[in-house]
Amino acid sequence: MRAPSFRDRALVVRTHDFGEADRVVVLLTRGNGLVRCVAKGVRRTRSRFGSRLQPFVELDVQLYPGRNLHSITGADTVAYHGAGLIEDYTRYTCACAVLESAERLAVAESGDDPWLFDASAATLGRLRTAPDPTVELDSFLLRAMGHAGWAPSLFDCAQCGRPGPHHAFHPAAGGAVCGTCRPPGAATPDEAVLRLMWWLTHGSWAAVDEARASSERSGDGMFTDFAGQAHQLVRAHLQWHLEHRVRSLDLLDQG
Ligand SMILES: [Zn+2]
Repeated sequence: MRAPSFRDRALVVRTHDFGEADRVVVLLTRGNGLVRCVAKGVRRTRSRFGSRLQPFVELDVQLYPGRNLHSITGADTVAYHGAGLIEDYTRYTCACAVLESAERLAVAESGDDPWLFDASAATLGRLRTAPDPTVELDSFLLRAMGHAGWAPSLFDCAQCGRPGPHHAFHPAAGGAVCGTCRPPGAATPDEAVLRLMWWLTHGSWAAVDEARASSERSGDGMFTDFAGQAHQLVRAHLQWHLEHRVRSLDLLDQG
């Protein structure tokens, strides 16, 4: 007997053309994690919902389970975040990074946890108007790593637990490290950089906004400098964990 169809909320994370008129679509769903599906005939001009199957559209989809791929038989737009993203290169690349990271992080999440979908959709919405899109992206990545259990330590030493603030950071060591535990090659961020990352992890936007405003008033450029350093550390931490933890799951999933 055929499994029943179901509806779910979804974000398109990737698509590619398939056969004459079909499209394979990878969805990050709210209730079923990452789902690969085929949308049959959607490249024909008369397709009712083909044009909605693109990144930055939040969808309500109807799915039929299949042996290898699910089939999408309907898709309604819940929200379109593309306006405001696709005209601005920085906002666009940050939004792409949200979807790419969410796809990779979803591999290690359990399918019925809506957190990643909700956080991704909310971040796409905020990226349209955020004063600093890269800071918004970094907040998403820090919170997503925290949800996955890989949050970097930002105050106490990740190795021995000695209270900070510390002045060294290394992804393989778990984040902030004290002078005794710091491994060779550790970055040496200003303590304000780790404090900014702590605010972004905990959604302390009032503190972030105050630091930005204060830096703008004095014209010292410090906020931009610290945010740039924070971005490098967030990227390094994410990259290290994706390579070391998700890769094996990724390969399993594709096998
Ligand atoms: Zn230590």
